[in-house]
Amino acid sequence: MKRRRFLEAVGHAAVGMSALPGLSLLSCARSEPSAGMKNWTWVHGGRDGNPDDWHRRFAQVRQAGIRGVLVSGGDVEVLADVAHAEGLEFHRWLWVLNRSGDRWVKQHHPEWYTVSRNGESSLEKPPYVGYYQWVCPTRQPVREYLKGIVEEIAGHPAVDGVHLDYIRHADVILPVGLWPKYDLVQDREYPEFDFCYCDVCRETFRRQTGEDPMALLDPPGDLAWREFRWDSVTGLVRVLADAVHAHGKRITAAVFPTPTLARKLVRQAWEQWPLDAFFPMLYHGFYNEDLAWVGRATGEGVAALPPAIPLYSGLYLPSLPPEELARAVSIARLAGAAGVSLFEMGGLTEQHLARFREVSAGQ
Ligand SMILES: [Zn+2]
Repeated sequence: MKRRRFLEAVGHAAVGMSALPGLSLLSCARSEPSAGMKNWTWVHGGRDGNPDDWHRRFAQVRQAGIRGVLVSGGDVEVLADVAHAEGLEFHRWLWVLNRSGDRWVKQHHPEWYTVSRNGESSLEKPPYVGYYQWVCPTRQPVREYLKGIVEEIAGHPAVDGVHLDYIRHADVILPVGLWPKYDLVQDREYPEFDFCYCDVCRETFRRQTGEDPMALLDPPGDLAWREFRWDSVTGLVRVLADAVHAHGKRITAAVFPTPTLARKLVRQAWEQWPLDAFFPMLYHGFYNEDLAWVGRATGEGVAALPPAIPLYSGLYLPSLPPEELARAVSIARLAGAAGVSLFEMGGLTEQHLARFREVSAGQ
């Protein structure tokens, strides 16, 4: 009850500020510069630091050409105030379907967790790593629960937008560069990594098609079953987008590199999602690719999205010494990105900042 009252209170306040959320979104988009890049950085907000430290860090990235921060963890009030004081947009970055850290769901709804083609729950037997515990986006109570979480964030007056992460299924196939790390060869979809065969998914698919996915002869080869899982994630995204837009706020997501790879590896059909911007994680090292691939992947994403929807190329700093970071920024821009987003702020050295400042000033 307490939370509901809070939601109602901030909900009214937010709606009062912009009676027509659609129009306010439009004006936000129009206020963006039509030329030049808008750059972002992901930020782990839970790390140590007093407000003075945050002021110093945010001022550094602002001076280097960053215009928005995507922040997980930490104190929203403190971090948003500091970000705004330094001239940065403040978006809240959150894990959505990976609920490994959600003690409430684990305790009260263990049945919400996805089930593999082997019939094993990702709660009981997470694939790859211990934190790969995911809830099922097909389930209506899961959608309602996650909607409540994003509504609470979107309703906070200091939050400019909600940034979705882990808005997907567990990787049925890992990025190829990670196979040696896990001692795997994933040349096809193996059952222990293939989700979700929970009771609700099986029953919903059976009602739609007359078939039990568990009984399909070739589940990975069944287009209707693949589409069902894409649509299941997309259906959740629509619910979350409506909830955030009702507060007059923006909603964005970190997604897999291209629509093709995202569908194949993690069951994201992200080019169909009604979001305000996309941040594909173009972490070339994970795919054994070079910087030219950042441009090709950026181009594929831009071509798949409506022209008015910006794409910000996500760049992975541990793979990018300062000079290569500068090249990656230029490549992304040439391929049609509206800017880049850096993962993550703690990995930015003085040299990175200096080169980033030069290259972003020149765009
Ligand atoms: Zn399911």
